[in-house]
Amino acid sequence: VIVEKNIEDTRRIVNEWHRKGFSIGLVPTMGYFHNGHLELMKRAADTADKVVVSLFVNPTQFGPSEDLVVYPKDFDGDCAKAREVGADLLFCPEPDMVYAPRHCTEVSVGGLTEGLCGADRPGHFTGVATIVSKLFNIVRPNHAFFGEKDFQQLTVIRQLVTDLNFTVSIVGVPIVREPDGLAMSSRNAYLSPSEREAALVLFQALSRIKQEVLDSDGMRYAQDLLVKARELIETKPQCRVDYLEIVDEKDLSPVSAVKGKCRVLGAIRISDRIRLIDNLALYMAQG
Ligand code: AMP
Repeated sequence: VIVEKNIEDTRRIVNEWHRKGFSIGLVPTMGYFHNGHLELMKRAADTADKVVVSLFVNPTQFGPSEDLVVYPKDFDGDCAKAREVGADLLFCPEPDMVYAPRHCTEVSVGGLTEGLCGADRPGHFTGVATIVSKLFNIVRPNHAFFGEKDFQQLTVIRQLVTDLNFTVSIVGVPIVREPDGLAMSSRNAYLSPSEREAALVLFQALSRIKQEVLDSDGMRYAQDLLVKARELIETKPQCRVDYLEIVDEKDLSPVSAVKGKCRVLGAIRISDRIRLIDNLALYMAQG
């Protein structure tokens, strides 16, 4: 795997690939790879001729009281893992190269970014949309891969691509979980053993909602399901609910009755310190 920090050198490499007619798959990440990241890279390697993985802990998507400076890192481990799953180029620029001192352009996606994680993390999705737009312009990928773990982010990126006429095709990849169901996340590294145990309650609460929806003959009301899920989460003294919502998958609008393609999305805070998110589709997957 080629490791490249420089934007111009990265452009030169991908331009050469484009000239030779290779298709390019891009996997944007913040590093500290787990099997979720690796699944995105494998999908990219199956789909495209060349796989570019970006590794950049993007400062503009972190709030002032968030975990930017302590975000976990393992650069050598990441290189080895990316190589193993067939990445061709690991693009890991320095923040001051990405954001020159007089950088003053932002990409903001309206509507979709107001609720859910957007309500708890003002400016977060503008940071995401801006860095992803920059990566699309640097790499000019044919395909880009994003995890359903960050379902709102995936929806925002699809909207961004439509609205700004990017030509990349966006591929959403299902959530990769630990054996007990916890969604894999770089932030799981922050959890103590007892917090790790408590953290599972988010997946359990979402699963219970899914089970009730799939088991019921009639229609279920979102509020009834959400109240019970919240109660389950609150049985864990370390856990606090940031949000829990059932939304229409296509535009993330809250639904009152669960029918069609709905998804339950949740975020919890553990020990007031660690914020974890997860979501589940409330219908049977096809195929
Ligand atoms: P991050 O490094 O956390 O910014 O994540 C980089 C990409 O990996 C994003 O598209 C995430 O949605 C995706 N991702 C993170 N965790 C998982 C997971 N457990 N399963 C699938 N995709 C994931």
